Amino acid sequence: MMEKSSNEFAQRFQSLEENYKIIRNTIAEAAVQSGREPKDITLLAATKTVPVEVINHGIELGIDHIGENKVQELCEKYPSYALDHCELQFIGHLQTNKVKNLIGKVGMIQSVDSVKLAGEISRLSLSHNLTTDILIEVNIGKEENKSGVLPENLNDLIQQIAVLPSLRIRGLMAIPPADADEKETRGYFTNMHQYFVDIMGKKIDNVNMEFLSMGMSSDYSQAILSGANMVRVGSALFGSRVYK
Ligand SMILES: *Cc1c(COP(=O)(O)O)cnc(C)c1O
Repeated sequence: MMEKSSNEFAQRFQSLEENYKIIRNTIAEAAVQSGREPKDITLLAATKTVPVEVINHGIELGIDHIGENKVQELCEKYPSYALDHCELQFIGHLQTNKVKNLIGKVGMIQSVDSVKLAGEISRLSLSHNLTTDILIEVNIGKEENKSGVLPENLNDLIQQIAVLPSLRIRGLMAIPPADADEKETRGYFTNMHQYFVDIMGKKIDNVNMEFLSMGMSSDYSQAILSGANMVRVGSALFGSRVYK
């Protein structure tokens, strides 16, 4: 890393180190409290707006999953990520015409909510001779204008996507309503966990319910207590976001 950037980012590196320790400890406590081990919970760092220098410092600290939510930002940063010991995922809303920019770059796309989108991921993965892992995003709060399949359509969608070649459904993802209070949020998490368990029990071909991705900076501990095994944490790790 260049001299200039290490000075420029010294303060951010230090707070990242402190935040990272706290978050790993909090995750470990919630894991144990919910009858699991710390290693059973995947911490994915949500890296939107975070400079690659800072992300790569986080990877040096031990962050092994990162997620971007904009295709263009991901592509701009892509050549600079230190991905030898870290998996890059896509966690944002994805338009069908942008899938081509992600295939082969990301280990998992967490935000699949339609047959059309899954079909394009399947088609392009097949043509590149690779398999893409996906999560199905659920609009758990049934919010208007929000990504995700409605809970009542989740089973049908999974059945339709499961038969597509060159992709693998590996779990569910959700972002509960931002304005929900703690109790409501816990209810959404609990409902998501129930869907996760129900679908797992159906043993559908090509569907593995391995990841339940929910919980962000303000509620990741609660999400784990409700059954999440992947949390997506941004601002609690990197500080509040500065949008340019
Ligand atoms: C930004 C983002 C997060 C993290 O949000 P924080 O509240 O900053 O932790 C999680 N998931 C998705 C899909 C995001 O876009």
